[in-house]
Amino acid sequence: MNFNTLLLRLGIDEDSFENKAIEPIKVEEGFIYEAYQKVTSRICPFCGSNHTHIHQHDIVEINCSSNDYIRDILRIYKVRLKCLDCHKTFTLPIKGLESSDRISYQTKLMIQHDFFKVIIFKEIGKKYDLSTARIIHLFDEFVPVVPKKNYLTLYALMKLNLQTKKCTKILCYTL
Ligand SMILES: [Zn+2]
Repeated sequence: MNFNTLLLRLGIDEDSFENKAIEPIKVEEGFIYEAYQKVTSRICPFCGSNHTHIHQHDIVEINCSSNDYIRDILRIYKVRLKCLDCHKTFTLPIKGLESSDRISYQTKLMIQHDFFKVIIFKEIGKKYDLSTARIIHLFDEFVPVVPKKNYLTLYALMKLNLQTKKCTKILCYTL
């Protein structure tokens, strides 16, 4: 897969990056795609000055695996600018990528797909390097309310993990 196709699939704006034809780096588990953010604005959000310079690059890695066997990582070198007037630093947004959410749209779809399998939240978290709490949060987003009329098509199981003495909720859909 080339870089542009990867970004298109992830719903991330390709115009936010400098390199548009980069070859992925092969690693043991899959591929790493490296992308350098383009400076699209130099205006300081704190004081409005455009007297800014590139201070450093922050590395953000996004898991964008499209199957269970190959692990694809998009490694973004985000630009951090520094204002020479007020001395504050700031980053520029990337369209299609929320700064607080390092899970790609594609990965979210895969996690949602896993909610239909008999697999506990903890195991889903391990697969995607996410905490169990984050997976439960995604589940709640995916199934915010279970309407009473749908009880027949959705049932919940409680599984007791004897080692940790904790209950893990598994929700299964009947097809
Ligand atoms: Zn400033």
